[in-house]
Amino acid sequence: MTAKSAAVATRATVHGYPRQGRNRELKKAIEGYWKGAVTADALRAAATELRRENWRQLAEAGVLEVPTGDFSLYDHVLDTTVAVGAIPARHRAAVDADPLDGYFAMARGTQDVAPLEMTKWFDTNYHYLVPELGPDTVFVANPAKAVGELAEALALGHEARPVLVGPVTYLLLAKPAPGVAADFEPITLLDRLLPVYAELLAALKAAGAQWAQLDEPALVQDRTPAELNTAARAYRELGALTDRPKLLVASYFDRLGAALPVLAKAPVEGLALDFTGPAAANLDDLAAVGGLPGKRLVAGVVDGRNIWINDLEKSLATLATLFGLADRVDVAPSCSLLHVPIDAALERDVDPQIARWLAFARQKAAEVALLARGLREGTGAITADLAANRADLASRAGSPITRDPAVRARTAAVTADDARRPQAYPQRAEAQRARLGLPLLPTTTIGSFPQTTELRVARADLTAGRIDAAAYRERMEAEVREVIAYQEKAGLDVLVHGEPERNDMVQYFAEQLTGYLATRHGWVQSYGTRYVRPPVLAGDISRPHPMTVDWFRFAQDLTDRPVKGMLTGPVTMLAWSFVRDDQPLGATARQVALALRDEVTDLEAAGAAVVQVDEPALRETLPLRAADRPAYLDWATESFRLATSGVRADTQVHTHMCYAEFGAIMTAIEELDADVISLEATRSHMQVAGELAAAGYPREVGPGVWDIHSPRVPSTEEALALLRAGLAAIPAERLWVNPDCGLKTRGWTETRASLDSLVGAARRLREEL
Ligand code: GLN
Ligand code: ZN
Repeated sequence: MTAKSAAVATRATVHGYPRQGRNRELKKAIEGYWKGAVTADALRAAATELRRENWRQLAEAGVLEVPTGDFSLYDHVLDTTVAVGAIPARHRAAVDADPLDGYFAMARGTQDVAPLEMTKWFDTNYHYLVPELGPDTVFVANPAKAVGELAEALALGHEARPVLVGPVTYLLLAKPAPGVAADFEPITLLDRLLPVYAELLAALKAAGAQWAQLDEPALVQDRTPAELNTAARAYRELGALTDRPKLLVASYFDRLGAALPVLAKAPVEGLALDFTGPAAANLDDLAAVGGLPGKRLVAGVVDGRNIWINDLEKSLATLATLFGLADRVDVAPSCSLLHVPIDAALERDVDPQIARWLAFARQKAAEVALLARGLREGTGAITADLAANRADLASRAGSPITRDPAVRARTAAVTADDARRPQAYPQRAEAQRARLGLPLLPTTTIGSFPQTTELRVARADLTAGRIDAAAYRERMEAEVREVIAYQEKAGLDVLVHGEPERNDMVQYFAEQLTGYLATRHGWVQSYGTRYVRPPVLAGDISRPHPMTVDWFRFAQDLTDRPVKGMLTGPVTMLAWSFVRDDQPLGATARQVALALRDEVTDLEAAGAAVVQVDEPALRETLPLRAADRPAYLDWATESFRLATSGVRADTQVHTHMCYAEFGAIMTAIEELDADVISLEATRSHMQVAGELAAAGYPREVGPGVWDIHSPRVPSTEEALALLRAGLAAIPAERLWVNPDCGLKTRGWTETRASLDSLVGAARRLREEL
């Protein structure tokens, strides 16, 4: 293949780059500013330096058209809110007094004003701040940030393309402002918003932008014909502007589906499409609409949200097909590299064999540059790179890490019966009632107790080598002793050991399972200055030794009341890790499930009468397109059942979830076949109890009666009112009394007072019944 096939030579670009810096310099500067230790000027200087370094890294990798405006001090959706002047009324004064402090007030709130709500950015683990709009919203263009960052890049000699959240996505992600009718649809504000985008685009053009990118990921979700018409109208109007840069409309995270013909027909100069994962369908869909004659196509062939090296030859084949379909084809990652860590070269502790398979942001930039070069100069120019890539891929495919014969044999032998408990629920319920002998409305907690400073210090001491494993264990045991004694005194019925040994739900298990890998510097932004280090599901998963049994045994030996065994479910493990891309997700989930199944049966053998397997991520991992959901829920629920079906009838399986909307997964909850489910319910005033009842859910339910996301202590009366609401939907024989979620973020004082209310409310109701 040669450069002849395209009118303009192919090049590489990216939609965005990690913001934090190699040593999370951004986090340090921002948090320092919040504490008053860093001045506003110093913060700005640090941010400028990070942008400069990001562009330098990109240019060095061979990405010659760099993005601008993707950088953010907190969140790019909040930046868009500022750029279009949609400041909520309650933040107006703060923003006017000091734009920087006002910006952080919108993000984090202050003593007196609540922040914007935060929610997940599509199906990633990044969270954005939800715009609040209403019929009175007035938009005002504020191009300062977009223009300033573009000018910086241009002054450094880069060819730069400003990136903004597109107007349709911005409106579709917004919610009605407080006080505005709940059925208000922000998308109805499009006509008011477009002139502001026109101003922003004109300002960018005046500042030297040849192209501007408008991100429209909301168009990869199922959209109504009316919404698609709105999108068509938006781009007809923006396209018709004369004073603007060329427009590149970007979509990612999934296929465009019905939105593809809409954008293909729009009078814009380019489209960026994702061709990875479920978005690979864009390839056939693009051919079906006759390609993008006269347009630029930015082809996302390198997975922008996972950490594996690209199959370069496969990408070249995709690009070859695309070449005939557009006027000019450029190469990019599928989405912003914000979702991957910055540099795999920093991971010096990773098994060198596995290190060859990893590509973080910096490596992905080099991959897209290499692909572009191969297209420009012919693959002969990159023969050595292709050979090295082939060898790395072969080493991955043939490695005993990714192909463990014992794990393969075991997963292959799984039958449908393995994922079903042998006894029907009613029979199990009876056996469990007899074994546990619990009172009506049994009380319990979700697992963790406060992660105190002492626990954190102990963990830091262990990591720094100031104490040894035995001393660490002693401190944890002291904590478990205290937590058990407290729960007995408080009158809880089913106890927990309190999870002092873990500060996160996945890492602890990842560290103990073979095939799971922890990184040292693999930080990814979750929201604002909060970064997480997702572990990597790198190979076939097995459990060399029990992971939680000692903790369980230690706790159970301290009390006659039942202590819950406590595990994280397979779906949540996948959701909060980087997953394998060389086998279906369901296959990875099944391996994790079998490892957990061993743990569950070991807990049972150690005397656990109750085992809880948390699946808070079941809802959040739901595919973006409804058509893909049944297949997902199928393997997701099967893997949960596989993990939990190896126990006797009289062993009670609990599960827990904590996101307010359960409507979309009602049947999946039933399919888990757990004996007891505890759910977040306080904020929605027990709505989920009604939903479960309406769906005919036949098992035991613990809708939360204490909102643990807030330091507020509920009174006995409040808990009682919630329980009565719960009783209206769920009969007393099947109702549990518990908080909304684990208590790790709470302090002991609120915990004691709140659990007193909770136990008090249960006791009062028992007397009445
Ligand atoms: N068992 C976990 C805990 O109590 C559950 C946490 C969660 O649902 N996010 O902390
Ligand atoms: Zn929870």
